[in-house]
Amino acid sequence: MSLFDLTGRVALVTGGNGGIGLGMARGLAEAGAAIAIAGRNRAKSEAASAELGKLGVKTAVLTADVTDEAQCRSMVGDTVAQLGRLDILVNNAGINIRKAPQEYTLTEWRQVIDANLTSTFSCAQAAYPVMKAAGGGKIVNIGSMLSIFGASFAPAYGASKGGVVQLTKALATAWAKDNIQVNAVLPGWIDTDLTRAAREQIRGLNAMVLMRTPVGRWGVPADLAGIAVFLGGAASDYVTGTAIPVDGGYSVQV
Ligand code: NDP
Repeated sequence: MSLFDLTGRVALVTGGNGGIGLGMARGLAEAGAAIAIAGRNRAKSEAASAELGKLGVKTAVLTADVTDEAQCRSMVGDTVAQLGRLDILVNNAGINIRKAPQEYTLTEWRQVIDANLTSTFSCAQAAYPVMKAAGGGKIVNIGSMLSIFGASFAPAYGASKGGVVQLTKALATAWAKDNIQVNAVLPGWIDTDLTRAAREQIRGLNAMVLMRTPVGRWGVPADLAGIAVFLGGAASDYVTGTAIPVDGGYSVQV
């Protein structure tokens, strides 16, 4: 068996209907995995699913809000019902509300923590019994450069993404005995809807990203495909609890 062949595997990608999630889903599909796309916007998910289907893999469209624990559980159940199993969970859905800490309301704080951190916990918890019963699985959580660095405009986002890394370590240590590997990916600055909004809201962001990123460009969703295949398959069977930057060198340059 090839270390990077995902034929016969099934991946569930939250927020897989666009941006980084779709970039990872494309990589997993190209490696042979069937893909369940989960998001709130069904039309967007249908379009992503149709695109992935052209790669010759089975797909499923699941309409779910990952801030709702019950919907996380149904999403996992629907993946198994429609595609037969669940081998890879990519906890990618996420949002940001960019504001100074002193301007944040508690409602906004909770929205970001729920969408980025609590959802990761709920979806992983929902996937656990299915993966355990199948003899193993892979969970890939999406952190950020703000898992490492601070930003004046992202108090809740930074707290949530720092939390994702620590949650990853806890899940990895708890579930290693069940042959479930849990890792985090820390994307650098990737050109998506999320960061297009950030570019409009934060003066000088584009110039800062280009200057600070050693490779000298923004990332694109396709840059995350390789790490998804690595962490989703046999190649990473002895890798767990890590947080791997995919950032064009951003996190290693002063
Ligand atoms: P996008 O805004 O393009 O994608 C976000 C995705 O999350 C959408 O597919 C959206 O689908 C889904 N989503 C958001 N909230 C929910 C929810 N409550 N329930 C279900 N799905 C939800 O952003 P990116 O692709 O940039 O971001 C993807 C992940 O990568 C996020 O976790 C983000 O924090 C992280 N990240 C992004 C970076 C970047 O530079 N772009 C850098 C570092 C990390 P829908 O609207 O249909 O629900």
